[in-house]
Amino acid sequence: MKWTYSCPHCKAMLNPQDAIILVAGYKDRVWLVGLHPEPGEYEVFVPPDVKVTSGDRWSFACPVCSVDLVTDFSNDLCAVDIHSDDEDHRVFFSRIAGEQATFVISAEGLRSKHGKDVDAYEQETAQMKYLL
Ligand SMILES: [Zn+2]
Repeated sequence: MKWTYSCPHCKAMLNPQDAIILVAGYKDRVWLVGLHPEPGEYEVFVPPDVKVTSGDRWSFACPVCSVDLVTDFSNDLCAVDIHSDDEDHRVFFSRIAGEQATFVISAEGLRSKHGKDVDAYEQETAQMKYLL
């Protein structure tokens, strides 16, 4: 497997096959969602009756420990840990449906950013940290 994701809180593996499995929520509904494992790919797998409406702010939580994955410095970003190429990083991503903004942060700082909406998060990028 090229990318292995884990919960920053309980360390549970989040992509047992390929897609990252998270608990998603909007208003009073919750469901399981699958996210494409490649940073910068925005394919989302949702149950057939879930409508993805651009601009909705979804919540994302770990399916194992149930901790909300929202960051402490931005209400619009979530974070999960990623292991790839024998290195550990943290991935920050927008939780606004339809937005494409993903940041891979290493202990040294920003490693890569992906998506058409990254510029909207210039201020937040300075606060993205991954401490080993
Ligand atoms: Zn967890």
